Amino acid sequence: ERQMLGRLRRLPARLSSGEVLTLQANLEIPAELPMVAQSGAAGIGLLRSEFLFMNTDTLPDEDRQEAIYLPLIEAMAGDPVTIRVVDWGSEKNSDALSRVGIGHGGDVNPALGVRGIRLLLQHRTLLETQFAAILRAANAGPVRVLLPMVSGVGEVRAARDIYARIGRRLRRKGVEIPDPLPPLGIMIETPAAALMADVLAQEAEFLAIGTNDLTMYALAADRAAADVTALYDPLHPAVLRLLRMTADAGLRQRRPVSLCGELASDPLAVPLLVGLGVRSFSMHASAVPRVKRTIRAAAMDDCRRMACRALEATDGEEVRAMLTAYAHDLR
Ligand code: PEP
Ligand code: MG
Repeated sequence: ERQMLGRLRRLPARLSSGEVLTLQANLEIPAELPMVAQSGAAGIGLLRSEFLFMNTDTLPDEDRQEAIYLPLIEAMAGDPVTIRVVDWGSEKNSDALSRVGIGHGGDVNPALGVRGIRLLLQHRTLLETQFAAILRAANAGPVRVLLPMVSGVGEVRAARDIYARIGRRLRRKGVEIPDPLPPLGIMIETPAAALMADVLAQEAEFLAIGTNDLTMYALAADRAAADVTALYDPLHPAVLRLLRMTADAGLRQRRPVSLCGELASDPLAVPLLVGLGVRSFSMHASAVPRVKRTIRAAAMDDCRRMACRALEATDGEEVRAMLTAYAHDLR
């Protein structure tokens, strides 16, 4: 089996019916980079940049950050690297951030408080520094920039203004950066963002669905709470309908849509997600071969048929039973 998964590395992620999908890797720390190369992933679909602020009591400045992004981009040798600006919330601890008074908002519920893009728009120098460092590194290869936890169009516009301003500032200083600027995209991980995806897609150059948070917010079940794990079901039709809306919006507005939550690494779920309209997935590198194997066995007709049925299903169990039966057929 290990050999077989190894051989898959060089094969395309192509359905048995011919459509080619994109499989990329999620990265939480740069040290995971060698796994990406081994996995056969076509680039980094999500670089979670939270690591920059962990285990340090000084904020990483522009130079430090550039020195971290640059080798990642170079190592991907022409495959895209999607860098998400930091998704910090008051439930996380960072000595570097608390020294400058960030991250101790005392929110009653941190998941519903100041996190992600909200926090960055309140502490703009964090965002400016990160944008500048990414732009400085972006000549080394195809880069995309991703905004976390978007819940409204105003946030996207505000972030885009800052992005453009930082770009102009760097050019004025004589720094060579890509023209036009690298694509600026948004996470779709709140129900509001999924419901408004058609509007948001006009302000964002790509959409990345985060099913981890989207499931939590749609079902009002904390992703980290053991006593609601039975409720936390990304295959719940309520979540699937939000995914469908997002995929449709991307298609209509001609914006690429990828999915980078844990669900992307579940071979059972991937044919359904394809049927819902998702063509690009990003997951932990170790999951890429298995997901690719499933994709190469599945057919688009079946994926679409399952998607139709799943959207009309009454609960996640029904969806899971259908997907399990299909996975069994594929073997
Ligand atoms: C998600 O919410 O699905 C996601 C990819 O982001 P994170 O897991 O980092 O919150
Ligand atoms: Mg998230």
